[in-house]
Amino acid sequence: MASDPIRVLEASASCDWGESVEAFLQFLGGSSMILIPGKDRRRTRALCTLLHGNEPSGTIALHRYLKSGQVPAVDLVCFVGAVETAQHEQLFRYRHLPGVRDMNRCFRPPFEDVPGQVAERLLQLLAQHHPECVIDIHNTSGAGPAFGVVSHEDSQHEALVCLFTKHLVVTDLKLGALMELSQPSCPIVTIECGGAGDPRANQVAYEGLVQYASRERVLDLRKGSHLELYHSPARLELAPGASLAFATRAVAGVDLTVPPDLERFNFGTAPVGTFIGWLGGEQSRERLTARNGTGVDRFDEWFRVEEKRLLTTQPLKLFMVTHRQDIALSDCLFYAAPEAGHSSLDR
Ligand SMILES: [Zn+2]
Repeated sequence: MASDPIRVLEASASCDWGESVEAFLQFLGGSSMILIPGKDRRRTRALCTLLHGNEPSGTIALHRYLKSGQVPAVDLVCFVGAVETAQHEQLFRYRHLPGVRDMNRCFRPPFEDVPGQVAERLLQLLAQHHPECVIDIHNTSGAGPAFGVVSHEDSQHEALVCLFTKHLVVTDLKLGALMELSQPSCPIVTIECGGAGDPRANQVAYEGLVQYASRERVLDLRKGSHLELYHSPARLELAPGASLAFATRAVAGVDLTVPPDLERFNFGTAPVGTFIGWLGGEQSRERLTARNGTGVDRFDEWFRVEEKRLLTTQPLKLFMVTHRQDIALSDCLFYAAPEAGHSSLDR
């Protein structure tokens, strides 16, 4: 590739970031890294956002932060990823362009295609700036509270997540996401700050960003901090071709009928014997799996079937429970993790 896949620019008082976030994206014109000089120029922190073009909260927060003219405690390097994707057809519509890979699956070789080249260049830029940490701000597709996601768990990662939320998912999924490159010398966390388009998610992103930028230290877990942990969650998935309905009674011929109020367990505990839904025919059970990041299927351990009713066998923390049929079928109905421990400070 001849030209640099990432535009690098430095923020200054004379910069015009645009009145709206749309104007901001037009100004950037493509994947960009913005350096905001801090009070202490010897240290750097990194912010990454818009890896997914339909997840606007981090970009909205960054635009607001830039316009506020605040000076961060240390240098901030801010990467805005899928700018062109976000502008394609309709603002913040596409996660990634049709036929192009999801950028947050590209942080491992080969880096051959366009998102791969952007990912590789971002890693080079991060190596140059050697930030003390990286936060990567996303939105979820459904509504719901904010949560952090880490692939390495320790007090540094927890401290970063605590700037934004009290829920932390610890996953062993390996997909090629940025946070999987986390190192003790540079912890990386993903922040899912709530549903795309939800003003509360924008507020979570902005307030967290201000904390992240302004605090002298962000890697020390504050005394009294409390995080709810969700370890090695499994995804309740339906096999290709399986059918699903949301209804208050079993729908004939459908593999799984889920009561519409299952969402009430989002980020809560579903006690033993919680009713998940009605199974259809004999073969329906075979069309369901609950695999974790390492591929282990927890279905028979965590669920049982009694007279075609699917029930939990132990207390489970559920999150990202969706009521959208397309997402439940193409992604998963929910994530579940066993009821377990608390953050480092409580141990
Ligand atoms: Zn995302």
